[in-house]
Amino acid sequence: MIKSKPLRITLALAVFAAVSAALSLAPASALRLYPLYGFVFLLLAYEDRDIKFLLAFLCAAAGFVLPRFAWQDLQLQRPLLMFLEMAALLGFAWLTHHLEDAKNDASLRAEGALAENFRRLRALEEELARYESHKKTLLDRIKFQSGLSSSIQHLSASSSPEEIKSRLGQLIKDQFFDASVDLAPGAPRDPLEAWSAERKVSLLVRDSAADNRFSARDFAAGERSAMVVPLSHFGATAGFIRLSSQRPERFGTEDLRAVELLAAIAGVATENLYLYERVGELAVRDALTGLYTHRAFQTRLEEEILRAARSKVPFSVLLSDIDHFKSYNDRFGHQAGDHVLKTVAAVIAGRVRAVDLAARYGGEEFAVILPGVAKAEAAAAAEDLRRAVEAQPFSFGGSPAGVTVSFGVAEFPSEAAIPSQLVRVADERLYRAKKEGRNRVVHG
Ligand code: GH3
Ligand code: MG
Ligand code: MG
Repeated sequence: MIKSKPLRITLALAVFAAVSAALSLAPASALRLYPLYGFVFLLLAYEDRDIKFLLAFLCAAAGFVLPRFAWQDLQLQRPLLMFLEMAALLGFAWLTHHLEDAKNDASLRAEGALAENFRRLRALEEELARYESHKKTLLDRIKFQSGLSSSIQHLSASSSPEEIKSRLGQLIKDQFFDASVDLAPGAPRDPLEAWSAERKVSLLVRDSAADNRFSARDFAAGERSAMVVPLSHFGATAGFIRLSSQRPERFGTEDLRAVELLAAIAGVATENLYLYERVGELAVRDALTGLYTHRAFQTRLEEEILRAARSKVPFSVLLSDIDHFKSYNDRFGHQAGDHVLKTVAAVIAGRVRAVDLAARYGGEEFAVILPGVAKAEAAAAAEDLRRAVEAQPFSFGGSPAGVTVSFGVAEFPSEAAIPSQLVRVADERLYRAKKEGRNRVVHG
């Protein structure tokens, strides 16, 4: 087949002209000549429909007209007729060509418009995808924040560091249910925790196989991604939260931030608890001697009275005062006086039972509550304490000296009905012990 389209059309037109000329020169052979137009369509087999229609029309018209009009009848010169016919053919050729161009242009324009629409559609799709991902991020954040506020409430409501630790562990496990979560106090246990401890920052390993900070043996068997968040207590690293997964890319920056936040909240909650306990401790413990304060003594006394009244089991109170205490201060200084106070307090604290309460009642006065102990037994306990203090070696300014204590003992409910009355009875007996020569126990 002929490759060039112009050549094909030219040949088709030439065949057409030749057959037409033959038809007009030999009209008698029209029936034999007419089928030769078939070659025109053979040559136009691959051309547009328009061209085929035009030439079909021309062939039909020529085949119909030409055999009926001989050259002589037309009274026209042969070349002129040929020229007119050729001109008409060229006109048709131009027309078909123009139509084809117009059609091509239209289809090109349509294709362009289609491509443009397609491009716009793609842009819209991309924008929609971005919007969807933004929406998902926002929803995740909202979910995370609402989870966070309940986490804060949960952690802050804990009443012990152990509870905080277990709640923190549970919160993280809930959030990363498909990963292994480990929460351990103390020193780093593996190279990842050591890395985090050294830099005092959290660690995120997205893919253990592609992380050049560590070698393969730094990871647990099968571990592909990991997070380490240090737990801090008053600025010091107190332990680590370690998350691990067999799947690479399991953890991302958002995950690390979430665990860091939970760890920070747990840290603050633990510190608050500690400070709260310290404040409470300060309120009930005397700073110099470590014994309970006067206030703690009063509170316990009231509780003991209620308990004894209910259980009908008596209890006793000892009130003691260091003999001639002022003289230690005056002769050896205030620090020596403090030393005496601390030593006597330690002797008392070391000899009472765990259920007893030993308090610094005032300057150099001490009080002891002995639950479930009747007066005779309480007097014996006071005597034991008196002897222990007396036996305690002291030395002031290089020379040995003795310190003694006087005691007053009172029992509930036989000798008093209310706390102040019980203390007053004990105090009166202490005063008597002083008057009777000090370093003694008075109980009746
Ligand atoms: P008595 O045998 O009659 O009890 O004689 P005393 O010297 O112990 O009597 P007094 O109650 O007059 O003395 C108590 C002294 O204890 C007065 C005060 O300066 C001193 N004191 C009170 N609290 C402290 C303290 O915390 N440290 C020191 N070093 N001295 C204290
Ligand atoms: Mg005194
Ligand atoms: Mg005294």
